[in-house]
Amino acid sequence: MHTKFKINIIPRANNDTRASLENIQETMRKVDGRPYNYRSLERGPGAYLLINELKDARFWLCFLQLRFSETFTIYLVDSPRYKAVVLKGANTKAKGDWLPNHKLTEKLAEKHSNVVSAQRLLNKDKQPTGAVKVSFLGEVPTKILGLGNRTRSEIYVPPAPRCHKCHGFHRSYACKATEPVKCPKCGGDHDEAQCKNRHSCVNCGGAHHAYYPQCPENKRHKAAHLTSLTEGISYATAVKKTAAISSTVQRPPTAQIVKTVSENVTDNVNAD
Ligand SMILES: [Zn+2]
Ligand SMILES: [Zn+2]
Ligand SMILES: [Zn+2]
Repeated sequence: MHTKFKINIIPRANNDTRASLENIQETMRKVDGRPYNYRSLERGPGAYLLINELKDARFWLCFLQLRFSETFTIYLVDSPRYKAVVLKGANTKAKGDWLPNHKLTEKLAEKHSNVVSAQRLLNKDKQPTGAVKVSFLGEVPTKILGLGNRTRSEIYVPPAPRCHKCHGFHRSYACKATEPVKCPKCGGDHDEAQCKNRHSCVNCGGAHHAYYPQCPENKRHKAAHLTSLTEGISYATAVKKTAAISSTVQRPPTAQIVKTVSENVTDNVNAD
């Protein structure tokens, strides 16, 4: 079975996307002498590439990020086959400037052949931080090298999916609600800007906004994500298993969970 790697290429602004994508394709053909066909994304502008081999995927990811980052956001699409960690305390600057993602990926790949990609994390104001999300295919090394020797890592827990229509914890396209978009402040059928009601969370009924990070339902879904990663079970099963919690989500150290994850991961998920 072919292991495919999916690279998304999303335009930063609505310039002539088609022409720019053709330029990317032409550049790749010049480098490699053979055609690479991108496919259009179903939702929104942009395209994706499917690449069979890890080494090629990493090469093209870094190459395209180096050449086209000004006009496109280019990243590797997450897959349940990857194990991701958040790396902290790493040397991620050179001469005072943040290293770009392709540099971080290259530095880590020099030490670990199974690195898929590295991506600097942004804070809630979209500003760069020193933390880097690193994805591996197969085992996560117990000590991650390439970005200094004072790094520590913890398992990367993706944010709980959030529906933009009803504000429940599912993807918007899977939403079963038929009504128009709900107010995230009170759950009513009006725009948030017009809302004069008290806060009433649509997910737990508490006196807070649906996006409140401390909402017990939000915490439960975050905990479920962690359970699905550590126990190798599906997210849906993990949500059912995870009882409502009121304390903060505790992350186990990476080394402890890496073993559990690798024992349970099955390779039956297609990249697309
Ligand atoms: Zn929904
Ligand atoms: Zn409202
Ligand atoms: Zn709530």
